[in-house]
Amino acid sequence: MLSIVIFGGTGDLARKKLFRSLYNLYSKRMLPQNTKIIGFARRDLNTDSYRQFVSDELSDDLDLKSEFLECFYYFQGDLHNEQSYLDLRTLLVGMDEQYKICASKLFYMSVRPELYADVFELLKKTNVLNTCNSEEGGTWSRLLIEKPFGTNFEHAKFLDERLGEVVSEDRIFRIDHYLAKEALENILVFRFKNVMFNGVWNREFISKISIRLFEKRGVEGRGEFYDEVGALRDVGQNHALQMLALVLMDRPLQFDGAHIRAEREQVLKTLRPYEFVPEYFERAQYEGYADHANVSSSETETYFRVTLQSEDERWQGVPFEIESGKAMSEDKAEIVIDFVDGNTMRFEIQPEARIAFSFNVKETGYDYSTTAKSFEFSYKEHEMFILDAYEKILYQAVAGDVTSFVSTVEVLEQWRIIDEILTQWKTLPLGSY
Ligand code: NAD
Repeated sequence: MLSIVIFGGTGDLARKKLFRSLYNLYSKRMLPQNTKIIGFARRDLNTDSYRQFVSDELSDDLDLKSEFLECFYYFQGDLHNEQSYLDLRTLLVGMDEQYKICASKLFYMSVRPELYADVFELLKKTNVLNTCNSEEGGTWSRLLIEKPFGTNFEHAKFLDERLGEVVSEDRIFRIDHYLAKEALENILVFRFKNVMFNGVWNREFISKISIRLFEKRGVEGRGEFYDEVGALRDVGQNHALQMLALVLMDRPLQFDGAHIRAEREQVLKTLRPYEFVPEYFERAQYEGYADHANVSSSETETYFRVTLQSEDERWQGVPFEIESGKAMSEDKAEIVIDFVDGNTMRFEIQPEARIAFSFNVKETGYDYSTTAKSFEFSYKEHEMFILDAYEKILYQAVAGDVTSFVSTVEVLEQWRIIDEILTQWKTLPLGSY
């Protein structure tokens, strides 16, 4: 038996992603039997009206919808109120007693990051994460945490220390849902299961690595949150650095969570900003941002281009350019590897998952003129179905697989790199686009 508690069970993420991902796992019988899902939020709902709330977010053509809805329970509580945690504890213990079993527990923190510090404090005080569970007893209790984790290195460290007093690192699952994207996982398979790429994956053959994360959408609806954060913290600190880590990391001894994560950590430790000149760094804000964000004036960047380098000899001198923006002309997430002789390898994540390698081939004709032609692998063309990242995240958390989750070392290294850029680039003028 499993009890899943969603702190923030009426929020945007729960509605847009979690309910459907849980349904998918449920319908494939990939959740333990007798799974209960408890939505924790402030709204005045009860279990019946919460089931209706969940139902409204799911389409009506789902075969197992009505039996799935019976997994849901509602708990009205306030995360600032100690008594709410104690009552939740009573509810969980009561459910276990009813079934005469100690259910494993998954607590999903799907709330605004500003609440984390207070919530960690109260989780510690009320010990709600520790009821009957113990690894020796074969049941577990884990905490899933959404990104962003902290607002800078010091803050992340502070949160991490608070969190460490609540629960041990092996029970913490910090989410970066990009890591669960099929096209990103495939980077490791592509690199390490195809013999021809190993020997050329270094500074001798690779001249530049670029990462682009573009969104057509502006900050509509998220303005208040976004204005405090900006593009570099919002996606640079997490998704982009994790993408880079997957491209640069060494072969893991084994293809499992612990080994893959250890290699990502090693890479992040070697990264530094490139020489700080405007050619390598840029920050800008799109026209109309202040209206969207509902602020009178703001210095927040909605676009950035930064360049990093590695202290690892294997990569010395190779620029890693990371660029991201909102309100761009296209939706795009990709990694481009430029080789010294003009070949390029493109890992496309969005809008379509694809890998394309441009080879030099001979032009047909009388001489040795060359032209670049692309060889491609596309999931769509091969009719390979792509799982939603949140479905995989939930599955892995239940299975105890840490592959798609970020360790404390990774979070802190990511903030170290971003903080260094943020202190330096204050001198850069804010451009407009
Ligand atoms: P949201 O503001 O829509 O939802 C927050 C939820 O928390 C609501 O259910 C609200 O009732 C509850 N809540 C707030 N204060 C509370 C309190 N004092 N007591 C009890 N409940 C309280 O936020 P969201 O967009 O769902 O985001 C949740 C988390 O997921 C955030 O950390 C966010 O950064 C992350 N995230 C969201 C998305 C997304 O698409 N929405 C994507 C990636 C990551």
